[in-house]
Amino acid sequence: MQIIDVHIHVGHRFEWTQTAKDKWMDTGPYVPGLYDDLGKQQPGPYGDVIKKEGVTGGILIPEYSPRTAGVQPFERAKEIHEHHPELIPFANLNPNYHQDPLAAFEDQLHNGARGLKIHAIHGFFYANDKRLYPVYEKCEKQSLPVMFHAGTSMFRGAKMRYADPYTFDDVINDFPDMKVILCHGGRGFWYHIAEFLVKSYQNVFIDISGLPPKNLLKYFPSMKRFSHKYLFGSDFPGVPGIRKNFNEINQLIHDNTAMERIAFKNAYELFGFWNQGPFICTSSAI
Ligand SMILES: [Zn+2]
Repeated sequence: MQIIDVHIHVGHRFEWTQTAKDKWMDTGPYVPGLYDDLGKQQPGPYGDVIKKEGVTGGILIPEYSPRTAGVQPFERAKEIHEHHPELIPFANLNPNYHQDPLAAFEDQLHNGARGLKIHAIHGFFYANDKRLYPVYEKCEKQSLPVMFHAGTSMFRGAKMRYADPYTFDDVINDFPDMKVILCHGGRGFWYHIAEFLVKSYQNVFIDISGLPPKNLLKYFPSMKRFSHKYLFGSDFPGVPGIRKNFNEINQLIHDNTAMERIAFKNAYELFGFWNQGPFICTSSAI
């Protein structure tokens, strides 16, 4: 079975805050293979490590959250993509960091971004911040998927009010044709709201990154029935193992058709992987 990992973080090690390293990055086994002696990400090996886990496509996520996670600029995603075309770079915007979010977005799009990730709880703004509405409008019109970190964060300084689920509901209703991915499915205290949104709205999906595989059916009891709305993601590099997580989820779901959707087909269609020249895909997998 092919795997697309829709949630891969990028960046030099020193661009992450100490709390990000302690609480997340260093909990995984991957750090020694990713950076040079100065802590710079090595774009070739970075992708090799991911692909060695059986991943054939992925979404690369930069972030501009200076007070919580740190700033890992778009260029980090771009340079990995240049070595690994099947790993696709996404834009990231923080209206408290980017004075003109639309201009910053257009610049990242111009440099190869194929969608947008929003990290409200780390950037201290709300998903329904009006400064982002021109950007959402563009995403809706151009069919660019928008990923939202949806739920809590363990990083020091992250403020829970910015994870208010009703701000996501606003965006979903204000931009009904926008493709929305709720990353981590409302982690912490609103799994049931995320599940409700996925069941209610055709364009809303959940990425299951950053969640313990064994709890998934507890968090989302209808996950198997709605397997066309869930996406596999790892939250690399802060994950016990991409393949390990995949295997555990596969065992839990115990349904090949559903698992193929979650691990590959949904992401392949949603993110437009067929536009990716070198991306190899066998017809049996889709
Ligand atoms: Zn993440």
